Amino acid sequence: MGIVLLFYKYVTIPEPKRFAKWQTKICQDLNLRGRVLIAQEGINGTLGGTTESIERYKAIMREHESFADMDFKENAGSAEDFPRLRIATRNTIVNLGVDPRELTARDGGTHLTPQEVHTLLLNKPDDLIILDTRNMVESAVGKFTDAVIPPIKYFRDFPEYIDKNIDLFKDKQVLMYCTGGIRCERASAYLNVKGVSKKVFQIQGGIHRYAEQYPNGFFRGKNYVFDNRIATKVNDDILGTCGICNISYDDYTNCLNALCNKHFICCVSCKEQLAGTCSVHCQTMVFEKKAPTRPEFGALNTPR
Ligand SMILES: [Zn+2]
Ligand SMILES: [Zn+2]
Repeated sequence: MGIVLLFYKYVTIPEPKRFAKWQTKICQDLNLRGRVLIAQEGINGTLGGTTESIERYKAIMREHESFADMDFKENAGSAEDFPRLRIATRNTIVNLGVDPRELTARDGGTHLTPQEVHTLLLNKPDDLIILDTRNMVESAVGKFTDAVIPPIKYFRDFPEYIDKNIDLFKDKQVLMYCTGGIRCERASAYLNVKGVSKKVFQIQGGIHRYAEQYPNGFFRGKNYVFDNRIATKVNDDILGTCGICNISYDDYTNCLNALCNKHFICCVSCKEQLAGTCSVHCQTMVFEKKAPTRPEFGALNTPR
C-alpha cells in the first residue's frame, strides 16, 4: 500500500506548458499515476504511488519557492487507483465557468480551520447556512448534517444556482465546503463579491481535513473522490440509496453497457439481477445484441 496525494495551490504559474513538461518528467520518473491540471492561476492534482515516491514528489515540489508551503493531503492508496498519468494545461484549475481574470480566489470567503468549523457547528447560529459546492453524485453518499445541497451536475452550474437562489443567502452567514477545498476558493468568491451575505466562510482543506480531525463529527457518510476508489469512508452512516430499488446503500457502479456507462449507486442484489447494467434495456443490449462492454472502470469518473 502506498499513498494517494491530493493538493492544489492558487499561485501564478507564468508558463503552464513548460511547467507541465517538468511535472510530467517528475511523475514519470517516480512512476506516479493520476491527474495534474496546470493553469496560469495555479495547480490542482491528485497522484498515487508508493510511499517512497510520493515522499520524493513532495520534497521536489517543496524545493520550488512557489510550492514550499503546499498543503499535501494524504490517503492510503497507490498508483493502481488511477488508470494512467494525465498532466494537462487548462485555462483554470477548476471549471466554475467564470473567467479567472474576472473572479479570482483572492475574493474568496474567510478560511476556517477544522477546529473552528467544529466549534461553529457545535453552537450553530440560527443564521448559518452550510452549503455544499459539489455535485449531486458526490453529496448523495456523504455531506454535512443540515447542509443545503444544490441540484447541480457540474461545478460550472454553481454560479447559476447561486444567481437563482440568491435570496436564500441574503443576510446569512454561509459556510461552504467541498472535497479538499479547491472548489470553495472560487465558489465562495462568487458569492462573496455579490455582497449580500453577512459573512462567507470556507473550510480550510475541505471535507478531507475536517474528517481527518473529526471522523465522527458533523460530516456523515463518505467523501467522494475522483479516482478508482470512488469514495473514502469517513464514518458508518450510509446516506445513499440504490438507484434501482431504493434501499440504503452507497457503493457506486458503472453500467456495463459501454454506450451507457451510467455512474450510479447499485446494491448487491440489483447488480446481480441486472448483471452489472443499469436497466433491463442495457442488460438486453449487452447480453443479447452484444454491445461493447467496458468492464474496466475509470473513464467516466473524472471531475468536470
Ligand atoms: Zn437495489
Ligand atoms: Zn445503462
